[in-house]
Amino acid sequence: MANIYAYIEHKEGVLDDTSMELIVAAKKIADGPVTAIVTGAGIDAAAQAAAKIYPEVIKLDSPALAYPNAEVIRKALVKVLPSDAIVLVAHGPFGMDLGPGLSIKMDSAFASDIVGIDGTDGNLLKIVRQEFGGVVSVHATCDISKGAVLSIRPGAIGADESKAASGKITDKTGEAGDLSANRKFLEVVQPEAGDVDITKADVLVSIGRGIEDQENIQIAQDLADAMGAVVSCSRPIVDAKWLEPARQVGTSGNTVKPKVYMACGISGSFQHLGGIKGGFIIAINKNPNAPIFQVASVGIVANILEFMPALTEKLRG
Ligand SMILES: Cc1cc2nc3c(=O)[nH]c(=O)nc-3n(C[C@H](O)[C@H](O)[C@H](O)COP(=O)(O)OP(=O)(O)OC[C@H]3O[C@@H](n4cnc5c(N)ncnc54)[C@H](O)[C@@H]3O)c2cc1C
Repeated sequence: MANIYAYIEHKEGVLDDTSMELIVAAKKIADGPVTAIVTGAGIDAAAQAAAKIYPEVIKLDSPALAYPNAEVIRKALVKVLPSDAIVLVAHGPFGMDLGPGLSIKMDSAFASDIVGIDGTDGNLLKIVRQEFGGVVSVHATCDISKGAVLSIRPGAIGADESKAASGKITDKTGEAGDLSANRKFLEVVQPEAGDVDITKADVLVSIGRGIEDQENIQIAQDLADAMGAVVSCSRPIVDAKWLEPARQVGTSGNTVKPKVYMACGISGSFQHLGGIKGGFIIAINKNPNAPIFQVASVGIVANILEFMPALTEKLRG
């Protein structure tokens, strides 16, 4: 039977939403128990939360694991996991750091950014990945007979929110060995508090590179005002310093749960979509093949610089 493990990300005792997604991915690989791995310092609350999702939880609890330092966590996991372990990680910034090096240390297979799992054919796991910015789906196989590290794209495979388990927590910190590191975390820098909190908004008018010019942001603001919405954005808009970081949606920005998310001139990269949890997505894009249309409830092929002012006029009327 496959030994499947899910590395659980958490912050201050609260599990990342991907904790409920990795168990769904695991069940698509094989039936049978899946073990959660929770690492950190003073992590009883996180381990207990994981035990509500997973039947088995391995806890590694040490001051040396206080920060999510992939270098140390890789060393520890190699000690505590069997050599043929199949380890699932979320394909976010941390999973991208942890996963490839872990597979090298475990001498196992590695597949990244998986968006679908179609079961197995003998030792071959059938996976789906996306290429060319989501325009092409690639169906591939991965030999998992000697273990594997698989990074699963957040939001792609679904979530088991039942939290019906009452798992057994095992502390394996003593088996983790030397937890020293060359890479040292100096401090955690919290993002500056902005004048808005997009995470609390019911309706977001979100702009991407399609807005073309800083001056055009007023067009989005006018539409947001007419809709009683808040303006958010993709990362290039923040990188260009056209809007403040507090308005960024995505894996390196904010996670939002609005009732309506209007994506204007946003292509739909997985880093952006990873920050949208639920809601009715309306996508407006001039490219009919933009990946955002694959997740949108309503798709409108249009030039946003014409569509948004026209909609504002309608709403004002
Ligand atoms: C580690 C890492 C973390 C990241 N974190 C984030 C994150 O948190 N959030 C995030 O958003 N990105 C993030 N990114 C960047 C991400 O990969 C994409 O580059 C980014 O999301 C693209 O933003 P966009 O959709 O606005 O731009 P593009 O991908 O350039 O898309 C612009 C879209 O606008 C359309 N368009 C152009 N003009 C018009 C018009 N006039 N009318 C209508 N449509 C038009 C185009 O067809 C296109 O689809 C991250 C990247 C990395 C590597």
